[in-house]
Amino acid sequence: MRAEIIAIGTELLLGQILNTNAQFLSQACADLGVSVYFQTVVGDNSARLTAALETAKSRADLIICTGGLGPTQDDLTKDALAAFVGRPLVVHQPSLDKMDEMFRKRGIHMVESNRRQALMLENSDPLTNDTGLAVGVALTHDQTHYVLLPGPPKEMKPMFEKYAAPWISSKLHHVSPLYSRMLKFAGIGESSLEHELLDLIEAQTDPTIAPYAKEGEVAIRLTTRAGSRDDADRKLNPVEQQIRSRLGHHIYAADDVTLEEAIVQLLKQKNKLLAAAESCSGGLFSHLLTSVPGSSAVYRGGIVCYSNEVKHGLLNVPMDLLEGEHAPGAVSGETALILAEQMRLRADTDYAVAITGVAGPEPSEGKPVGLVYIGLARKGGSTLVERLQLSGNRDAIKLRSVKSALYQLWK
Ligand code: ATP
Ligand code: MG
Repeated sequence: MRAEIIAIGTELLLGQILNTNAQFLSQACADLGVSVYFQTVVGDNSARLTAALETAKSRADLIICTGGLGPTQDDLTKDALAAFVGRPLVVHQPSLDKMDEMFRKRGIHMVESNRRQALMLENSDPLTNDTGLAVGVALTHDQTHYVLLPGPPKEMKPMFEKYAAPWISSKLHHVSPLYSRMLKFAGIGESSLEHELLDLIEAQTDPTIAPYAKEGEVAIRLTTRAGSRDDADRKLNPVEQQIRSRLGHHIYAADDVTLEEAIVQLLKQKNKLLAAAESCSGGLFSHLLTSVPGSSAVYRGGIVCYSNEVKHGLLNVPMDLLEGEHAPGAVSGETALILAEQMRLRADTDYAVAITGVAGPEPSEGKPVGLVYIGLARKGGSTLVERLQLSGNRDAIKLRSVKSALYQLWK
């Protein structure tokens, strides 16, 4: 069982108090045989607490919250969890009776806000507070366990030891494993991807839909808990279908593989050979492809035609196309086309890509940073040229231009 501890309280974030509850709970969990993977601290803010719960749910089976069970307006842990799991708050009568009696004995009137401390979530288990007023809460929802404890250590510790620990132990053997599926995208940026799927991402809690971006690629991870792989597939398939119906043409794999791995695989299947003429990417295309084991079966090699002299000397791009006041220049569709076609002829392959662009940081030939042309020459077919305006620093533009060239091959 993987646990996450969420300590709630703005005083913690301001450094006014030390988060000793997290230390106590981590040790106590270790004693129970529960691994704590994350400790989170969040202020008394409903939206941020909800976001913390969302994150914790995606990576933990047990979420232990401390703080914010008191009577005041900034104590909102129960309300936030109630909204998060969609269960109303109900009165825990014994806690209310205890409070009534205590106030009566002291001869003071109980204000309405005090009643909040006797609230628990519908269908939850109360955790008795022997040293204070706020009742704790334990519940299981959507296969995730939640334990809410008060903030003051003198209330939290006895409640945990006497009531929460046995409750957690009783759940230890009933956790279904997590199953996830990675959808990998090409030819689309992270923000457009998120924009296209925003309603799904926001509405979906099971499976969860999480976008990722790394190394020039974007991905979506779908995650669910289930008793078996088949059960998980039954939950994951409809969501994958929904995403495919919108962005299927950008999905190159339903597995955690890189675009270059997918291309090597594809070319192997089709029994095709590839070469590359690289200007602004400076050999990165060759590097990525040759990082894939077995790429020698499909990748013949390439030329780093960084200078105009090499574009002209080795790949026959006419000098008057590259230089001169009215010449299209090295960064142009015309140059990309010739580079790709010449490369394909020289390497005698089925395909050749050409990459020429402005990686920055300074503009070149009066063209903006990030302007990139990708050529794709195809044996027995016409040559395709794509013009792209990429963003990012020099490294990012080089990487994105290579991934874009791979995407051309994928399409
Ligand atoms: P109360 O009924 O006292 O308001 P509560 O459950 O609402 O309790 P908080 O208001 O969040 O809890 O915190 C009350 C006090 O408990 C804090 O001022 C602090 O002294 C202590 N406390 C809260 N969280 C922690 C923590 N993570 N570690 C140590 N002490 C804490
Ligand atoms: Mg409080």
